[in-house]
Amino acid sequence: MRAAVYSTHAWERPFLEAASLSAGHALTYFAESLHIDTAPLAEGLPAVCVFANDRVDATVLRRLLAGGTQLVCLRSVGFNHVDLEAADTLGMTVLRVPAYSPYAVAEHTIGLLLSVNRKLHRAYARVREHNFALDGLLGFDLHGRTVGVIGTGRIGTVVVRILRGFGCEVLVSDPQRSAEVEALGARYVDLAELWPACDVVTLHCPLTPGTRHLVDADAIDAMRDGVVLLNTSRGAVVDSRALLAGLKSGKIGAVGLDVYEEEGDLFFRDLSEAVLQDDVFARLLTFPNVLVTGHQAFFTREAVTAIATITMANLSGFEAGNIDLANRVTAAAIRP
Ligand code: NAD
Repeated sequence: MRAAVYSTHAWERPFLEAASLSAGHALTYFAESLHIDTAPLAEGLPAVCVFANDRVDATVLRRLLAGGTQLVCLRSVGFNHVDLEAADTLGMTVLRVPAYSPYAVAEHTIGLLLSVNRKLHRAYARVREHNFALDGLLGFDLHGRTVGVIGTGRIGTVVVRILRGFGCEVLVSDPQRSAEVEALGARYVDLAELWPACDVVTLHCPLTPGTRHLVDADAIDAMRDGVVLLNTSRGAVVDSRALLAGLKSGKIGAVGLDVYEEEGDLFFRDLSEAVLQDDVFARLLTFPNVLVTGHQAFFTREAVTAIATITMANLSGFEAGNIDLANRVTAAAIRP
């Protein structure tokens, strides 16, 4: 099958090439992200293949369809960047990679937690300056602390398992209870109970209309003083301005982020020569107790291999008229 691959990065191309060769697909690679001005690049191609920050809105979908595209393949778990109502109305198929390595994201989340708690990001810079003083590097034992995990799907479950290994108490919130998570010793509670009880809160739910700004000023107010907040899910689950206010007041003790509300204009590219235009993001980077990574939680060899392989299987399934329904996303996924 012929497909336009948008937002192709040098690091993923060998994985995509290897997977497409064995599946027999002809991919045309574009470094550009998908938006209305780049949609014509897919003219005549039956499929497009997009990444987490491509903008697949209704206008883009209509333009793609006019050019003959019927399939949108997501190289991601998240689908918040696609107008699913529009795709359904236009009769276009959207397939995603529903799971790759949940360990990749879970382990990165724990990496952020250990770094911001034990100030590893600061220690690294200090020691290179031959500053071996310990002032300002004090952390706390995770053992015996209470951690709140929002979303106990594939990634959240692995996070719970790791945290239990550290000896943490774990409170969880998810509209769908998991027996596996309960068997690990975590307890389902509502958010009103979770916020004030936790030393650490970590987010693993999808971004939907219902979870947008789940962590807002009220939620932060309700949290423990000095709470550590981790977000490796999607940026807009957190209200960034409320986060800034919580950091400035000292209410929030530390933050580890792999995602950011407006990351679409920032992440996955080298902007080291550019002037940062996002003042909220620029301010976030000034805090010594904030560690930001640029949406790299998924970035392990195992995960990138799986993304490429499942994406090629999605193309093959569509071509054969036999799609894997578990990989299909429709607007039903975002309805309350
Ligand atoms: P999943 O579908 O297995 O699990 C998501 C869980 O969230 C489900 O159990 C669902 O019931 C729950 N949920 C839905 N609404 C909720 C709410 N209001 N409150 C609490 N829980 C709620 O997905 P996953 O594979 O575990 O991935 C979770 C999210 O992580 C994805 O949606 C994606 O946005 C993000 N992600 C980020 C990266 C990265 O590189 N940073 C990589 C992969 C996934």
